[in-house]
Amino acid sequence: MSEVKKYEPIVFKITDQDDLKQINDFKEQHKKSCREKHPDTLGALFTYKAIPTSLGTLYVVECACGEEITLNGDFNF
Ligand SMILES: [Zn+2]
Repeated sequence: MSEVKKYEPIVFKITDQDDLKQINDFKEQHKKSCREKHPDTLGALFTYKAIPTSLGTLYVVECACGEEITLNGDFNF
C-alpha cells in the first residue's frame, strides 16, 4: 500500500481592523463605479493577493478596473 502524502493547508486571514476598514472603503468606492464598467466578471470584481515575504505577508486587493491597494497586514518594515 502506498502512503498518501498529506499537504499542509494554505490559509490566509486578514484580521487587522485598519486593513479591514481600508478594504471596506475600497470596495464601497469601486462597487458603484466599476460594476457597470465590468458586467462580464460574474460579480468577481475584486482579487485578493497574498504575498509571503521574509518580513511577513503583504496583502493586495485589486479591482477589475486595475486599481489596487496594498495592506500592511503582519508585514514588519
Ligand atoms: Zn475599480
